[in-house]
Amino acid sequence: MPDPELYRHRLGLEAPWTVANVELKVKEQRVDVWAEHSDSLWPCAECGKTLPLYDHAPERSWRHLDSCQFMTYLHARIPRVDCPEHGVRQIRVPWAEPKSRFTILFERLAIDVLKEADVLGAARVLRISWDEAWHIIERAVARGQARKQKRSVRRIGVDEKSAAKGHDYLTIVCDLDEATVEYIGDDRKQDSLDPYFHQLTPEQRDAVEAVAMDMWEPYVRSVNAHLRGAAEKIVFDKFHIIRHLVEAVDRVRRREHRAQAATGDSPLSGTKYLWLYSEENLPEKHRDRFESLRAADLKTARAWALKEVLRALWGYGSRGWAARFFARWYFWATHSRLKPMIEVARMIKRHLANVLTYFTQRVTNAVSEGLNSKIQTIKKRAYGFRNREHFKLAIYFHCGGLDLPGDPCQTRMKRSSWHAGSSPHGRSSE
Ligand SMILES: [Zn+2]
Repeated sequence: MPDPELYRHRLGLEAPWTVANVELKVKEQRVDVWAEHSDSLWPCAECGKTLPLYDHAPERSWRHLDSCQFMTYLHARIPRVDCPEHGVRQIRVPWAEPKSRFTILFERLAIDVLKEADVLGAARVLRISWDEAWHIIERAVARGQARKQKRSVRRIGVDEKSAAKGHDYLTIVCDLDEATVEYIGDDRKQDSLDPYFHQLTPEQRDAVEAVAMDMWEPYVRSVNAHLRGAAEKIVFDKFHIIRHLVEAVDRVRRREHRAQAATGDSPLSGTKYLWLYSEENLPEKHRDRFESLRAADLKTARAWALKEVLRALWGYGSRGWAARFFARWYFWATHSRLKPMIEVARMIKRHLANVLTYFTQRVTNAVSEGLNSKIQTIKKRAYGFRNREHFKLAIYFHCGGLDLPGDPCQTRMKRSSWHAGSSPHGRSSE
């Protein structure tokens, strides 16, 4: 038999647990290790009360870190105690979480691999199933959320994200200072956002100083219903406003292109992406072509210029100057005879008070834009979420700022004395 002491060490087993038996199966590339214990007194998993051994649950096994390429499994029968308060219960074992089929060390490695690779790739590397990989993610997120500190978030960003093709949305709330996703709701209605506020304490709600978001009435209603002084806190941010303008420019381009194409060659053929750039981000190789398009007498070029000019709004030092600048821009936009631009200009004007709150709050959704592209990558990589709950889990896993490998069970065990081996019965109740 391979050296039990070596495997005891590899598995990190401490008194009262020892290794009873090790079986090496070379052909199957597998090692099986059986753990046993000497003590007969155990703490109840619920209340910590020290109780005599009642019996054992049937044998279970846990996948552990491979030994070389050998898949390694730990087997044990978990002791049960008969607690006067909680009845017959399994005790907590120090190497795994309740209901997990993996040891804590294996889960830790799996989490690291899952952070770096897509689920399918990670499952292949770890030699676990797709479902097992998702279970690990699910438990890691639940654990991370349970131990997340109840801190206050000062500045939040609210954004919608399409979850699939068509009109299937998620509402995402992020902490703009920490760049973490704090909450995900289904759809983009008022009651998509309400639950975020419901889970905050009154103090946490009062701590919210600014909410950056799109001009979207259901979100406005939700913030108004839950935050005091919402009128000063809501900021319709630059990124969303520019996005509306970019879309309007594209609508102008499509109409103009159709009209031009009907009478011959359209100079707008193949130019869709050129108009999406802001001036300074236009790649050098497109610059000549773009300049000649701008010089031509095109509605699309005028629409694009309107969009570019409004970006200066956020460069002003004060609300008053910004308001005067907007008034001039608004006059220009509404006299442009470009219907999509006029519509957006009017929408901005209707919401202007909470566009200009920027000058007291100085908040933009740049952070959630960054998170958005991270979420986009998660979505692309995950051909195979199979459902939106998986998509949400993956967002929390990668963007939640959660302490994922942290294991409350392990921490509790370490604090109790029995893990240290001095006495198996000193665990205080928590
Ligand atoms: Zn108990």
